Amino acid sequence: MNRLLTIASRQDIPAVYRDTPVGLLLQYHNLDRAYEAYAEAQLLIGMCMDNRKHLHIPDNFAFIIRSGGANLRYSEFKVSYAIAVGGVRAIALMGHTQCGMVHLMARKERFIQGLVDDAGWTREAAEDHFLQFAPMFEIGNEMEFILSEVTRLRRRYPKILVAPLMYQVEDNHLYLIEETENPVP
Ligand SMILES: [Zn+2]
Repeated sequence: MNRLLTIASRQDIPAVYRDTPVGLLLQYHNLDRAYEAYAEAQLLIGMCMDNRKHLHIPDNFAFIIRSGGANLRYSEFKVSYAIAVGGVRAIALMGHTQCGMVHLMARKERFIQGLVDDAGWTREAAEDHFLQFAPMFEIGNEMEFILSEVTRLRRRYPKILVAPLMYQVEDNHLYLIEETENPVP
């Protein structure tokens, strides 16, 4: 069972992340660390497009890729760019509670009817659209999805530090997902 690690002080940040850009992100957002000035990005943040999240981070601190469910499988070129050209050496992959990409299939009718009523689509086109893309964006369970994506990103970019985080929309705090089965080396 995976669980969330509360970060209420600098000491709560595991040593592997503490003095890295991931640790800085946790301190800026959760601990009100005073903002430093950055000329270049230190971190790539992958997070969901959901509107209920606002990060407290300094200007220039991070590249941010937002997508449904923080799914970076279809944003790989942008991830590679942030590393190779942007110079970041760490990725924070951030899921959130109440994510709409969980049980996406259950929203099929609402999705299709919404496109028909509000976007001017034919029902057939809306159905095809949903059936084509929903399986790509369904994430099942927020925490398990983030952990599986983190594992994939660590294999794909072996020299990059990749951390699994959750944004809890109920309190607007960031948490690390504790990794029991697949700990950071
Ligand atoms: Zn979401």
